[in-house]
Amino acid sequence: MTSKTEGHRETLAPMIAALLPNKQYWVNPLGVSWPRFTFEELPIVVQKLVQLESFCGFLPIKKGSKAPMVCYKNKPHSPLLAALRKKPAALAIRSRNLLTLDFDSIDAYNYAAEERGIDLSYPSCWYIERTDNDQKFKINYFVSDEKLLELPNGKIKRTVNYLGTNLDVFLSNDSYIIFLGEHEDGNGHYFSRKGHDVTALAPPPKEVWDLVLEIAHKEKPAPSNSYLSTNSKRLNPCPICSRDERLWCSKNPDGSIFCMNGSTFSAEKSHGPLTITQVVNTSSGKYAVASISAACTTFKPHQERRTYRPHRTTRPKRNTRRAY
Ligand SMILES: [Zn+2]
Repeated sequence: MTSKTEGHRETLAPMIAALLPNKQYWVNPLGVSWPRFTFEELPIVVQKLVQLESFCGFLPIKKGSKAPMVCYKNKPHSPLLAALRKKPAALAIRSRNLLTLDFDSIDAYNYAAEERGIDLSYPSCWYIERTDNDQKFKINYFVSDEKLLELPNGKIKRTVNYLGTNLDVFLSNDSYIIFLGEHEDGNGHYFSRKGHDVTALAPPPKEVWDLVLEIAHKEKPAPSNSYLSTNSKRLNPCPICSRDERLWCSKNPDGSIFCMNGSTFSAEKSHGPLTITQVVNTSSGKYAVASISAACTTFKPHQERRTYRPHRTTRPKRNTRRAY
């Protein structure tokens, strides 16, 4: 472990502790409360959350709402510390690699357990529960980039109340999952019990993945400008980021390239910080940045303009940057 992580843990642990419920952890009708975290154990949770920053972003949630305190759509992921510094009432996480089953009622539980054969008797994975309502809970799973390639769109749209069962399914960087802190009504807290917290995050079992595949194939096929469209070609290697494993970057019929951001390969890892319209040199010629999102940078073949600086002469001549 690096000293940076140690420093992180010292700052972050008390901030995370502030989001834990006071009246801690739901007590069942027999008066048994669930295993609690001690403050000595909290740094292990914090360390895991910090590790997740390599593919997840964190969002601060406003008191009395489920809304983030910051804009996040089409923005890069924010680290844990940035979210905690906003002193949120609750904390949310988002990632294209996080799959969430959100059980809104006993109907959802019954559907998943009985009709889909999903094991809900606390197998080892990350559960998010509520201190005030034991019928509402979520399970998060980790889905690798390789596994996402099995989906026609590389993600699924936010699926609410699937087949009228009160089961919601999310697998998209556009969704976020509140996992710790106060519920919007102020009566309960989101929490994870020890052993079923973020450190237990695991890939989905077959029954869960089958459900995701079913939902994914019911969705409309991706429009031609979407990732992984059927007319696009996987790049090996990608001329932008040089990715030559887990092929995930693609070239479209119009010549544009979707260059996907991974932890090993990304456009910015190869070319430094990028801005829209910036031109980069590649082995396949010049490409200009057309759009930037957390998951992907889109490039278009660069067209040299004949009149390169048409407006230069209309610019004021004074050098405003001169030091006085
Ligand atoms: Zn690429």
